[in-house]
Amino acid sequence: MKILVTGGAGFIGSHFVRSTLSGSLLSPAGIQVTVLDKLTYSGSLSNLKPVADHPGLTFVHGDVTDAELVDAVVSGHDAVVHFAAESHVDRSLMGARDFVTTNVLGTQTLLESARRHRVDRFVHVSTDEVYGSIARGSWTERQPLSPHSPYAASKASSDLMALAEHHSHGMDVVITRCSNNYGRYQFPEKLIPLAITRLMEGRKIPLYGDGSNVRDWLHVSDHCAGIDLVLHHGRAGAVYHIGGGTELTNKELTGLLLDACGAGWESVEFVSDRKGHDARYSLDSTRIREELGYRPVVPFTDGLADTVRWYQENRGWWEPLLTRAGFTR
Ligand code: NAD
Repeated sequence: MKILVTGGAGFIGSHFVRSTLSGSLLSPAGIQVTVLDKLTYSGSLSNLKPVADHPGLTFVHGDVTDAELVDAVVSGHDAVVHFAAESHVDRSLMGARDFVTTNVLGTQTLLESARRHRVDRFVHVSTDEVYGSIARGSWTERQPLSPHSPYAASKASSDLMALAEHHSHGMDVVITRCSNNYGRYQFPEKLIPLAITRLMEGRKIPLYGDGSNVRDWLHVSDHCAGIDLVLHHGRAGAVYHIGGGTELTNKELTGLLLDACGAGWESVEFVSDRKGHDARYSLDSTRIREELGYRPVVPFTDGLADTVRWYQENRGWWEPLLTRAGFTR
C-alpha cells in the first residue's frame, strides 16, 4: 500500500506519519508513505525526525496548489490523506488569502488529481469549526454548515468541494471532522503549547474575554487513530465526527495548565475577546463509534501531563521554530 500524506510535517500529519510507519495504526507492514508539505512556519522536518531514516518514507517539498507537482506526486498512490492547511483562526482574522488559497484551491487541486489517477480513497481531514457555535447539545453529521471565522469558512468550502467530487464523479472521498487537538509537536501559537512555553519563559499567558468559551479536547493520537479507521474502513461519501474528548472552558483549561506548570493566576493576562469568538463546539461521535468501533483512549489528565513534560524537555524543538518563524509573542 502506498499513501500520500499532505501536510505530513505539521502537528497532526506528522503524528499520523510517525504512527503509520512505526506500525501502531492499521496500515500493513511495508507501507510506503509520501509526505507532500510546503514547510510553512508551522511545518518542520524536525517533526519527522523519529522516522527520517525509515525506508518507507519519501518527503516531497512542495505546495498543494501546484497542479503540475501535485499531479506528478499523486500518481501511483492508493490513497491520499489530506491534512495540509492554514490552520490558525487568529491568523485567518488578520488575512484570509492564504487560507482560501491553500485550504480551498489546494484541496480542489488534490481532488482533481486523485480522480485523474484513480486513487482508491481520499480522506479529507476537517474540523468541528465548520458548524459555527452550539449552546447546548452536540452536532451530528447532518448539521448544516455555518462557519464563522475565515479559517472555518475555508475548511467548510473545502469539505463541500470534497463532497462534490464524490457526488458528481463517484470518487471515494471520506471526510473527518475533529474537535481541538493537543499533544507533542504542536506549533507554540495554539493555546496549550503557547501557554506551556510562555510559562517556561516566565511570561504571562493570554486568556480571551472571560474565559467561558468551551472546547472539546482530544489527544492527537486519538484523532489519528480515528482518521486511520476511516481510511481503512470508512464508507465512501460519509462524514465522520471524531470527538468524545474532554469539554472544558478556556478558564478551566488555563487553571489545569497553571497547576501542571507550577504557576498561579498572576501569570494570566485577560485580553479582549477574539473577534466573533465561537462560544462552544460539541460533536456527536455516535456514527464513528457505532460503525467503526472508535473509542478515544487517552485520558485528558495523562495526555496533558505528557504534553507539558514534552515541551519542558524539548526546548530544542520549539525555540528554533519560533526563531525561524520570526515569531513575536
Ligand atoms: P499545522 O498548521 O500544524 O500543519 C499544517 C501543515 O500543512 C504544515 O506542515 C504546513 O507546512 C503544511 N502546509 C500548509 N500549507 C501548505 C501548502 N500550501 N502546501 C503543502 N503543505 C502545506 O496544522 P494541524 O493542526 O496539524 O492541522 C492539520 C489538519 O487538521 C488541518 O487540515 C486542520 O484544519 C485539521 N484540524 C486541526 C485541528 C487542531 O486542533 N489542530 C482540529 C481539527 C482539524
